[in-house]
Amino acid sequence: MSSPSRLPLLESVLEAVSLGVIVIDDARRVVLWNKWMSRHSGCDAHKALGADLFELLPELRGGRVEMAVTQALTNHFSSLLSPTLNRAPFPLYSDPAALGRGERMQQAVAITPLAVGDDARYCLIQLNDVSMAASREKLLREQTEKLRMQTFSDGLTGVANRRAFDVAIDREVRRAKRNGTVVSLLMIDIDYFKPYNDHYGHQQGDQCLIQVSSALQALLQRSVDMLARYGGEEFAVILPDNDKHQALHMAQALHARVLDLAIPHEHTGGPVKQITVSIGVATLLPGQPADPAALIGAADQALYAAKRQGRNRIVAAPAEY
Ligand code: GH3
Ligand code: MG
Ligand code: MG
Repeated sequence: MSSPSRLPLLESVLEAVSLGVIVIDDARRVVLWNKWMSRHSGCDAHKALGADLFELLPELRGGRVEMAVTQALTNHFSSLLSPTLNRAPFPLYSDPAALGRGERMQQAVAITPLAVGDDARYCLIQLNDVSMAASREKLLREQTEKLRMQTFSDGLTGVANRRAFDVAIDREVRRAKRNGTVVSLLMIDIDYFKPYNDHYGHQQGDQCLIQVSSALQALLQRSVDMLARYGGEEFAVILPDNDKHQALHMAQALHARVLDLAIPHEHTGGPVKQITVSIGVATLLPGQPADPAALIGAADQALYAAKRQGRNRIVAAPAEY
């Protein structure tokens, strides 16, 4: 192709691309401003051409764009502006509705030095609309977070589920071993829950589980403490750095909190006619093997001792289980 016909072709390509193209000279004056720029900035080429870019768009002064332009014109460095750090440096809008809402287009900006002939220096600024990609990415992140929450929380009560408990107990036992510290575990089981379901119905049983779990959760103030639904009407509480004394204290507070709920239960096998819990307490001491299963087993045995002794009580596992 001969050169006279190439120029108009290049010009129409520049006007047709779905990309913002600005070229400025070494005095930072705009020498090229394509249609895409006019469409998305609301500023026509005839107004832009010849103007100092940083007078035309004063908000770019002192920012990342001006630094990159200076680097391109003086040192011939190219720059890619990170869309996460520079979400919308130019006042550009995807469509008139977005302009109305003041919602800027998210941009990927590339700034490149251009040398024409021996000493004519220019700077090319390319702008891409990455709003769609950014919103898809945001949606994906939100969905991932939601899935993660669903994977690790109990559908009925919203507290951590068994899977989360298994991961946490393993982590806390290893942490205690590494740091030479203690970790305590409470196993909490609702007393006479089968007759509660039988007499009040499964739905009210569900409500009871929700009430009990949120009462227990409300007492756990430290972020490291974890309440989990271990199984049907059984909950577990991991108390990192708590010795037997502290764990018993917490067990007493949790036990009393459930009594305070005063959920009526006329069909218990015991003298107390409301929902109560039994609690087994076990503490892993620094000298003991770091075995989560043994700690769970010890708390479970203490729980069953509490059941055998009449329920509605707290039993601690022997120091060396
Ligand atoms: P104990 O005092 O010895 O603990 O007796 P219990 O009746 O509480 O114990 P058991 O293990 O015999 O019964 C547990 C009941 O918990 C049986 C089951 O119907 C009920 N359950 C388990 N999961 C759920 C649930 O998600 N919702 C409801 N409503 N009930 C549940
Ligand atoms: Mg029970
Ligand atoms: Mg049970």
